[in-house]
Amino acid sequence: GSDVGPQKDRVVTEEEWLQKWEMGNIGFHKEQGHPLLRKYMDVLLNGKSGLRIFFPLCGKAVEMKWLADMGHSIVGVEVSEQALKEFFSEHNLPYFEEPVPEISGAKVFQSTSSNISLYCCSIYDLSSSIVGKFDGVWDRGALVAVNPCDRQRYVSLMMNLMEKNSSYLLVTVSYDPNKHKGPPFYVPESEIQTLFGNCCEIKCLEKVNDFSDRHRQWGLDYFLEVLYILKFVA
Ligand code: SAH
Repeated sequence: GSDVGPQKDRVVTEEEWLQKWEMGNIGFHKEQGHPLLRKYMDVLLNGKSGLRIFFPLCGKAVEMKWLADMGHSIVGVEVSEQALKEFFSEHNLPYFEEPVPEISGAKVFQSTSSNISLYCCSIYDLSSSIVGKFDGVWDRGALVAVNPCDRQRYVSLMMNLMEKNSSYLLVTVSYDPNKHKGPPFYVPESEIQTLFGNCCEIKCLEKVNDFSDRHRQWGLDYFLEVLYILKFVA
């Protein structure tokens, strides 16, 4: 089951993602938030306060609200404006929107309390000169949603956005890629090494069985989530 060949050339367009949001086809969204972030919150935060935390491909992840409520500053990026508006309205958070001068067509949605800023654009439009650098990253449904051909580009950008010694919690998924085309895409542990190994210390924290009816309907007979902590060292 470690042959990723069948997914190598698969491309999901931005338009297809927008359609998923319009159709309410968002089985990836976890209304109660992710148990692995709850459990490993300390590994991400290292007991520090007032961190800048990045949520790549954020959707309307409720974990952004958790961390904002703890006093951290949240920056997310998401192509679907609908997702971002739903985030603010579902948490009853007042927000305002502004254009992003550096990125044509992009908008940033900011909570009035100003510790949540969500960019509505492609992640590939961002750079550290626009959003600054981060002390922590929560990457769930992000690397695994990136088209396999874009993974290297995605990781290079993430490296550019991380402060030295920052912590990056990464959730990948493991299943037989011959049986489901993705997303989420299967990213083997060897590829995590290839992608992040030259600038990060990588530790696998946990592998959890996440198999559900949804995965059975995809034709799978196992589905794991794999959590890594990456420490940006160089
Ligand atoms: N991380 C979220 C969402 C996962 S689904 C969660 O855990 O719930 C992946 C999300 O990435 C979708 O909402 C999709 O609209 C968005 N997306 C896909 N490609 C993108 C890109 N290039 N830039 C920004 N967002 C993107």
